[in-house]
Amino acid sequence: MDTKLLPDNPYVLLTPGPLSTTKSVKAAMLQDWCTWDDDYNAIVQEIRARLVDVAGGGDLTAVLMQGSGTFAVEAAIGASVPENGKLLVISNGCYGERMGQIADYLHIEKRLLDFGEVGWADPRTVVETLDADSDITHVAVVHCETTTGMLNPVQEIGSEVKRRGKTYLVDAMSSFGGVPLDMDDVKCDFLISSANKCIQGVPGFGFILARREAMERCAGNARSLSLDLYRQWSEMEHKNGKWRFTSPTHVVRAFAQALRELEDEGGVQARHARYRANHRALVEGMEALGFSCLLPEAWRSPVITSFLTPDHPDFEFRRFYGELKSRGWVIYPGKVSSSDTFRIGNIGDVALDDMRRLIEAVGASMYWSRP
Ligand SMILES: *Cc1c(COP(=O)(O)O)cnc(C)c1O
Repeated sequence: MDTKLLPDNPYVLLTPGPLSTTKSVKAAMLQDWCTWDDDYNAIVQEIRARLVDVAGGGDLTAVLMQGSGTFAVEAAIGASVPENGKLLVISNGCYGERMGQIADYLHIEKRLLDFGEVGWADPRTVVETLDADSDITHVAVVHCETTTGMLNPVQEIGSEVKRRGKTYLVDAMSSFGGVPLDMDDVKCDFLISSANKCIQGVPGFGFILARREAMERCAGNARSLSLDLYRQWSEMEHKNGKWRFTSPTHVVRAFAQALRELEDEGGVQARHARYRANHRALVEGMEALGFSCLLPEAWRSPVITSFLTPDHPDFEFRRFYGELKSRGWVIYPGKVSSSDTFRIGNIGDVALDDMRRLIEAVGASMYWSRP
């Protein structure tokens, strides 16, 4: 169809999901699909195969799960940790903390290794914790901690986890597809992400990539019927892409289109290069306007950046947000409790030119420094 006929967005979303998607991704939702028909199930199979490729191929398998990203994290934790298992949760932000809450809700024994919101997840501390507690069977960490934009050393942690024979789960929700990550290199058994982040689809489901053998060990572990990862996988695997319950058909169709567009762009490397260029232009532009980043450069992801709020008595986030929104840009409030911050994402259908226009808009929205 001629996508020019689709309405323009009233503003650009610089939020790390949902984010701004292409018109062609949105246009893919303009048909109805039958959740158990072969045509639709073939799309699901294509998606599963493409996801496996993006994660490095080999003995991996993929399963899609209805709901937002958290549902997929809960499904993965709830099905991978057996009754007598113990989960080490590495945390430096609200998404790490959330994995700990999931363990508590599911009555899974856990240990929380908390580095604080602006502390880097140091692999040496992880090693000390693992060596001091031999009951730990599983380890979970967030790759890009969206709370701050911190990128955690998942590969270094993964080698230590694997050396000790533990199962390793990585929440790569806000990085998968936008930051290169090969599950073999990372030594990761389960990787979790969702439709509406770096793959640039619309919200409605999450997905889990797993080593086939690790997935097969999940049978019978789930603490929830609808989030039973193993049964969801088993159905998709053995019935050619069929879901157990009603699936978000339009969202799935849009996601297939988004994956094709990822390939057309040149794959994860090319997308990563675009995000990095966006991120660099964002930081340079904001710094030139007098803003500073919360995190040191070495820890920052090319996905979302936390800025300290200006030290000015008249600064108020809601007003700044409103000024920017009226100019066509939607940003994100901060989530760090220890300092006043706001966040700007640069993933989605946005490029360098958008970043330049954004910086102009930020300059025009700095009402507190107007003469
Ligand atoms: C977005 C995100 C999630 C999932 O959030 P939902 O609101 O449930 O989609 C989980 N972990 C991280 C790191 C995220 O960025």
